[in-house]
Amino acid sequence: MSPCLRFGPFDKLLVGTMKESKQGIGASELKRTVLVVEDNELNREVLCALLEDEFHIIEAENGLVGLERLEQHYKDISLILLDVYMPVCDGFEFLERKRQDARFDSLPVIITTGSGTTDDEIRCLELGANDFILKSSNRDVMKNRIRSVIRLRESAAKLNLVETDPLTGLYNREIFFYEMGRILRAEESGEYDIVCSDVENFRAMNEIYGREASDAFLRAAAEHLSALMPGLVLAGRLSDDVFAFLIKHQQGTWADRLAFGDELDGKRNYTINFGIYPHVDKSLTPSVACDRAIFALQTVQHRFSENTAWYLDDVHEKRLRRHRIEEEMQFALENTQFSVHYQPKHDIHTDGVGGAEALARWFHPELGSVSPREFISIFEHNGFITQLDFYVWEEVCREIRRCIDQGLEPVPISVNVSRIDFELPDLATRISQLVDSYGIDHSLLHIEITESVFRDCLEQIDKTLVELHDDGFIIELDDFGVGYSNFTSLFMLTLDIMKLDLGLVRYAAEVNDFQILRSAIMLADSMGLKIVAEGVETAEQAAALKVLGCDYIQGYYYSPPLCADDFEAYLKDHSR
Ligand code: C2E
Ligand code: CA
Ligand code: CA
Repeated sequence: MSPCLRFGPFDKLLVGTMKESKQGIGASELKRTVLVVEDNELNREVLCALLEDEFHIIEAENGLVGLERLEQHYKDISLILLDVYMPVCDGFEFLERKRQDARFDSLPVIITTGSGTTDDEIRCLELGANDFILKSSNRDVMKNRIRSVIRLRESAAKLNLVETDPLTGLYNREIFFYEMGRILRAEESGEYDIVCSDVENFRAMNEIYGREASDAFLRAAAEHLSALMPGLVLAGRLSDDVFAFLIKHQQGTWADRLAFGDELDGKRNYTINFGIYPHVDKSLTPSVACDRAIFALQTVQHRFSENTAWYLDDVHEKRLRRHRIEEEMQFALENTQFSVHYQPKHDIHTDGVGGAEALARWFHPELGSVSPREFISIFEHNGFITQLDFYVWEEVCREIRRCIDQGLEPVPISVNVSRIDFELPDLATRISQLVDSYGIDHSLLHIEITESVFRDCLEQIDKTLVELHDDGFIIELDDFGVGYSNFTSLFMLTLDIMKLDLGLVRYAAEVNDFQILRSAIMLADSMGLKIVAEGVETAEQAAALKVLGCDYIQGYYYSPPLCADDFEAYLKDHSR
């Protein structure tokens, strides 16, 4: 277990000091309890008589009885006075057994000796005793030593209360950074790695299962993760669900062991993500070093296929670029650097244009064209996606309006709706109002939801989908076959169209095995859904998909995404 996982050792003292301050009793005025373990009845009586005006006394006539008393009263005991030589379970054995129990381990022990040999003293110290008193000491000396050992322990406990996170027992953020700095400074030659973790969608977990269950989960996770870390030096909780671990540098593929999901609780479908910053640069402050691990961590958030990322040199470059993207996104949106392209979808039966998908494009004056694959995930992470999506939807409404006004037969246009957008409770109303303000029939706007919504709370998402569907919008499930959806959850959403993932289509064509596609199409068919295949690039793929029973085809085979003017021209061409 980690050196700083302090479940237990100081529990008793923590509880004690907290209670006292609540009641407004100064710690020094409280009567502490002392356990006296001594086989000689006379000695015991003398000791008790000496101490009882200041302490509550619990007596035990040998080590075995002493352990029983501990079991019954450990929460109340502040100190143990222990004789070494006793017939049944001597002081050494008592110390040994006490040390093995986390509940008792932190209780301070003063050895009472008649004369005592140096060897025995050393052995007692090694077994965890704190001090020695000669049985013949005078009353004041004895009391003073008892008081000072208790005081020492209680101050340590108070400090411990401040240092550790009360929920998990790990170091809190400040102390983790402090200790990490101390260790890195002290050990010039040692190499260290930082591992940071977080729980995918912790906020949703909190909402769905409640605070208590989530707290219990975090406690279990803290213990489990600490045990997983090889060469663990320090463990801390930096914020809600973010843990940090300082470990001795590890070679090779050790991080494979982090690829776990359901181990803590088979019922819940959660993932823990990890970011690893290897070979910590000791000239960095601990907070900057952890920041690097967290940056790596963020690159795997919301990715179903991987849960671990490393902060390597190129990550630094990526980070600067990401920073720039985040700094400039708002300006870009306000200054028309974003535009919308339209990729036609063809009806496989008539070969005519049966619709189109709206795809965001960003042309940056210096960076050039920035791929949606890069910016969408950043925007989903920082929440900007909702602003961008609203902009795209409005552009799409404008485009449909323009087509209608030019006398073109309008085709339905699918817009991508990010899972983040579903966090707006009035999403359906806002979309309806927007479309209405352009006087457009709702059936002309298709809502494409990405398959990654399956990681979120489906009931909440479906509530919005039902509203949209009742309002006349058509719902498409994007990227089917990518990995999140399982067949049962498919039945939980209100859908009209299933869109087969581009990768699935490409894979089937590559290995010339259309079995998976066939199964997916049969499933969609049985649910009464129309089927769109995307990423279709060749005539052979299109022909195969037609045989399998696809309804629409989208892909370079027909057309790449087109700017608005080219799209209108395309519509004109194909309506002839
Ligand atoms: P997606 O929704 O699955 O979109 C299909 C992607 O495949 C598009 O990439 C499109 O340009 C590309 N594609 C189309 N046909 C072919 C083909 O035949 N072969 C190949 N290799 N690729 C093809 P794009 O435009 O880079 O978009 C990437 C992803 O970004 C989209 O995947 C979508 O998830 C997201 N995205 C794009 N625009 C928006 C938006 O306005 N809002 C949201 N929320 N997400 C968007
Ligand atoms: Ca899409
Ligand atoms: Ca797609």
